[in-house]
Amino acid sequence: MSLTEFDIIERYFRHPGLAAHPDEHVVLGIGDDAALIRLTAEQELVLSLDVLLPDVHFPPDADPNLIAQRALSVNLSDLAAMGAEPVGFTLGLTLPQVDETWLDAFAKGLRRTAQRYHCGLLGGNLSRGPLSIAIQVQGVVPQGQALLRSGAKAGDIVAVAGMIGGASAGLRVVRNKVTAELSAEEKEALLQAYYQPEPQLAAGILLREYAHAAIDISDGLLADLGHIAEASAVRIEVGQEQVPVSAATQKVLREEGMLDALNGSDDYALAFTLAPAQWPLLQERAKAQGLAVTQIGTIVEGSGCVCIDADGHIVSNSDGYRHF
Ligand code: ADP
Ligand code: MG
Repeated sequence: MSLTEFDIIERYFRHPGLAAHPDEHVVLGIGDDAALIRLTAEQELVLSLDVLLPDVHFPPDADPNLIAQRALSVNLSDLAAMGAEPVGFTLGLTLPQVDETWLDAFAKGLRRTAQRYHCGLLGGNLSRGPLSIAIQVQGVVPQGQALLRSGAKAGDIVAVAGMIGGASAGLRVVRNKVTAELSAEEKEALLQAYYQPEPQLAAGILLREYAHAAIDISDGLLADLGHIAEASAVRIEVGQEQVPVSAATQKVLREEGMLDALNGSDDYALAFTLAPAQWPLLQERAKAQGLAVTQIGTIVEGSGCVCIDADGHIVSNSDGYRHF
């Protein structure tokens, strides 16, 4: 079997001769949603990079305005997963040709997301080549308060901020693969879940006070919870019935079975864990800010991440989107 994405990172890039080691500047290197660099005694810089390619991350004929919004939003989602506040981003763009109609719409989409989340363009690089969009976001977090994948404890509640499965249902709408009857509003909501995911930045900042561990859901709920389980050396048990899935998503995914919602990628919700005693207070504060948080499971001793149905049967192990 060929190497997975994570095997490649471990073997070639997390190499001790290459990877940054924690020192007076580097607080955290490879392995979490973003790296942390010490800025001052009070603040850390938060850095994350994501590359988006046609066919792999968006349909090649998609509206460039939406591609741009999605490209910046998925990067901002990694800042949210660290509890960071956005500062700005850099853009590495390769374009096959100068198409001003395309560029106009792309820049408009970037402006929309940049303004909404107060994350302006700091610089970048432009070259002719196959279409590829690389964005590196920078944010800040108070020293020692970043949310990490490690830190979950047996006895914790597992919860999510945001909804699950909408993006994967939305992609089925994009690909015209939906046979279920959907209203125009339902279709629109699913397309929005795919093209305009909302990075959970406000939730991330709120969670700095409560969460033991957090991750953003890019590769599928169970797979990404698997990363928390591994980094924290615990086992995660998700209740299938507890996972928040919209009515429109359920209609689409019923054809696939619910597991598609649990394994579908690209939701960019936040998954996090916290002590049960903190849960009522967090719920209250989230509600006051208009944020939807839902308990979906618990942390126990052991390893891995499993999903359990209403009858107590294990229905799935973590196995999400794999790039290789
Ligand atoms: P996310 O889904 O949160 O964007 P990834 O799954 O892409 O995170 O990456 C997991 C970890 O591996 C991150 O800490 C990331 O910085 C690191 N990583 C990914 N690709 C590389 C690479 N080519 N070189 C070094 N580190 C990498
Ligand atoms: Mg992430």
